[in-house]
Amino acid sequence: MTDFDIVIVGGGIAGASLGAEVAGQSRTLIIEGEDQCGYHSTGRSAAFYLESYGGAEVAKLSTASRDFLGAPPPDFAEHGFLRVRGDLHLTRSELPELPAHIETRVVERAELERLVPGIRPEWRRALFEPGCADIDVAALHAAYLRHFRRAGGELRTRARLDSAAPRDGGWRVQLEDGASLSASIIVNAAGAWADAVAAACGVGRLGMKPKRRTMVQLRVGQGGLRNLPLVDDALGTFYFKGEGDNTVWLSPHDEIETDPCDAAAEEIDVATAIDRFEQVVDWRIERVERSWAGLRTFAPDRLPVYGFDPNAPRFFWCAGQGGFGIQTSPAGAKLAAAQLLGSSPDPTIAQIDPAVFSPQRF
Ligand SMILES: Cc1cc2nc3c(=O)[nH]c(=O)nc-3n(C[C@H](O)[C@H](O)[C@H](O)COP(=O)(O)OP(=O)(O)OC[C@H]3O[C@@H](n4cnc5c(N)ncnc54)[C@H](O)[C@@H]3O)c2cc1C
Repeated sequence: MTDFDIVIVGGGIAGASLGAEVAGQSRTLIIEGEDQCGYHSTGRSAAFYLESYGGAEVAKLSTASRDFLGAPPPDFAEHGFLRVRGDLHLTRSELPELPAHIETRVVERAELERLVPGIRPEWRRALFEPGCADIDVAALHAAYLRHFRRAGGELRTRARLDSAAPRDGGWRVQLEDGASLSASIIVNAAGAWADAVAAACGVGRLGMKPKRRTMVQLRVGQGGLRNLPLVDDALGTFYFKGEGDNTVWLSPHDEIETDPCDAAAEEIDVATAIDRFEQVVDWRIERVERSWAGLRTFAPDRLPVYGFDPNAPRFFWCAGQGGFGIQTSPAGAKLAAAQLLGSSPDPTIAQIDPAVFSPQRF
């Protein structure tokens, strides 16, 4: 008998959410290479839920995740993880087109000036998306891991997969510290390292591309910002949201292709972010309180990948969550779990076609 039915590589939101779905029905181990599971992308996000983000197919996953994030089952968490703030998609000319099922309304200049005092005159109007919310990512991630453990799952940190080879209809997994274990199925939830983990298991890469995104916490000479909507532009060149009374979280919306790594903000990207911000509002910049960067990892078609590898039937992909891995985690995990366990899909995802996200598409 193998040591585990399923070994999940990576304890970020992807591995933790899938682990929470399957641990009650299979002997499951999560191995995480770092000291703590949220060290990479999951701990570095901008922490918002924006239903229109990522295109029509991703929006289906986000929409299907909304109820769980807002009001999770009581055995999962006592409180929801969302705090609504709305999003203003600003434009100097044409309003953006969003998937039809998403609630929006047009905001003209006079209202815009009330919502964002000090906004520069060239921003003529905006599309307001009222459903946009902050996600308490740390609480959500912790709840997934708690649920996983309660269901019998085992988590090992500082346990990095070095290699794996097929053995007796399953896998022999070698860890970097010299330990080894056996499992029937490997789940690849390694974020930016998804292709590297596939290669270490002798499985073909899918062309997953990690892209660096920069975040800046800025103190400004303007108060009353805590509940400021998320503000972005229709062309996708910046976004910011209120953090404290006179601080914002700001991003230049960068996507810089990089090798998998412990990403850090570059000065030039922080400067770009501030330059773009100054073109939106007339607020005095007081100081950069902190800056950070993380990797958003995309498949070639920018859709996530959930499913067994067509050429390695005991190797399961749960990767490519790009810039939407937190807000899609409930539906993504349910979709992946149904395939992994061969069970019927949860009603919340019954309308979603798993073939769209299958690795068979490449
Ligand atoms: C700046 C920024 C802003 C973002 N904003 C948002 C947002 O507002 N809303 C949203 O929904 N999403 C957002 N995202 C995207 C979101 O953070 C990611 O989609 C999500 O965190 C990906 O989760 P993951 O579990 O795949 O990756 P990770 O959290 O990176 O987890 C992968 C884990 O695998 C581990 N690992 C790798 N190789 C091995 C190995 N060989 N052995 C063992 N462990 C291994 C790594 O140590 C890592 O902990 C943002 C991302 C960034 C960077």
